[in-house]
Formats: sequence, C-alpha cells, structure tokens
Amino acid sequence: MEPPPLTPGTLYLVATPIGNLEDITLRALRVLRECSVVAAEDTRRSGQLLKHFDISKPLVSCFQFNEARRSEEIIERLRRGETIALVTDAGSPGISDPGGRVVEAALKAGLRVEPVPGPCALVAALTAGGLPTDEFHFVGFLPHKSGQRRTRLESLKPVDGTLVFYESPYRIQKLLGELDAVFPDRTIVLARELTKKFEEFLRGKPAELLVLAQKRSLKGEFVVMIGPAEQQCEPSPADDNSERKASYP
Ligand code: SAM
Repeated sequence: MEPPPLTPGTLYLVATPIGNLEDITLRALRVLRECSVVAAEDTRRSGQLLKHFDISKPLVSCFQFNEARRSEEIIERLRRGETIALVTDAGSPGISDPGGRVVEAALKAGLRVEPVPGPCALVAALTAGGLPTDEFHFVGFLPHKSGQRRTRLESLKPVDGTLVFYESPYRIQKLLGELDAVFPDRTIVLARELTKKFEEFLRGKPAELLVLAQKRSLKGEFVVMIGPAEQQCEPSPADDNSERKASYP
C-alpha cells in the first residue's frame, strides 16, 4: 500500500545518520524526496547526504546565527502550504543542535510539526552502554568555563539514574578529570564513534579512564555516561536475617 502523501503546511523533523548511512529510515528518505524544501543546519553537509541518496531538492540554511530570521521564512513557506523537512548535521533535530526555535515558531503559528524519528547519539549510547536505562537524565553539553562546569556537575550529584552528556573530543580528558573529582566512585561509560568503523565503549571509574586517555589520545565523537550511585542497602534490624542465613545448613 502506498503511504499517504505529505501533509501540506507541515514541518517534518527528519533524523539523519550519526555516522553509518545505512541508518537512514525509509520514511526519512521519502520525506526528503517529497518535501518542497529541506531546511538544513549546514547545507553543504546535508547536500552531500541528499546526493548520496540521489535526492535533488532545494536546500535553505537554518543555522544557529540566522535561525530567528530563517524561522520566519520557514513559517511563511509553511503558511503557503509547502512541506519542509528540517535536518541538522547528524541525528535527531533539536537534540543539542539548532532546530528548537523553528519548532517553537511553527507551533506558535499554529502549524503542524511531525517527527520522523531515527538515529540519536544519546539513545544509541544508552542502549548499548550497559548502564541503567529505566531512568536517565540527559544533560547535553556542559558549559565551557571551568567554574560553571564544576557547579553543574556538583548539581547533578543527587540526580537519580544514568547521567548522559555530549562532549567534544577536545574536552574529553578535562571532563574525565572533573568526573574524578566529583564522581570518583561511579562507573563511567564513554561511547565513542557510534555506528562508525571505530565505534567502541570504554568503561571504568573516572581515574581508570583518565589513565587510558593519557596513554592514547581519544579522538572522535563521544557520548559520556555516568552510572547511578551504588545503593548502600543497610538491612533494617527487622529484616536482618544474616544470622539465620549464616547458620542454615
Ligand atoms: N542531534 C544529535 C543527536 O541526535 O544525537 C546531536 C548533535 S550534537 C551537536 C553533536 C554531539 O552528539 C557530539 O558532540 C557528540 O557528543 C554526540 N554524537 C553525535 N554523533 C555521535 C557519534 N557517532 N558517536 C558518539 N557521539 C556522537
């Protein structure tokens, strides 16, 4: 059965691969093929993606510094009944990248916004990372300034579940040093180069990973995860059956 045509006046948020081009979805390809225009964070980069899939489509730039002006243009086009596919450099638009403002503007204008879900680095990292996924807190990027980073990390100490960060390869060693100071006993997982040739998961306490980072330079893209604090289960006197257990034959 043929899928229905795109709905006029809709902003489609199209997730694109975070490394492995096979991760594009059939629906993403159809939306990119059938939309009126593709709004991209970086038109050159998205142009290459479209070319790879043999899609020829007008591209408009929608990057951080002209997002406000571009938002207005996009809203105008949507009001005229066009269909717009919004893509960012990689992954799901709006997750730690520009795009949020366009969504906000479209919703404010009463327009339809539809997700076309697909790759997302934080989800890929969590699913294979081995840390609890029943409860997690996505932090995104930490601020750049040392004092602000430290304050933010300290503020996350009482947060339950797995903590998930995005970090630039240039700051990964610095971050491990900071984690050693703030979360020395927690398990850290570095998810490096997800879906790419050199994908790997590095696990250990911050100090162990710091030693590793000093031995070999850690390059590429990273998702950093911090496991929850281990529960110290002090048995209450009422249910302390340790003696019984010990003496049981
Ligand atoms: N919107 C994207 C998503 O859905 O994941 C994230 C965009 S954000 C600007 C880029 C950051 O995502 C990188 O600095 C890195 O922390 C993380 N990232 C993206 N691709 C990755 C990959 N293949 N492996 C590990 N981390 C990745």
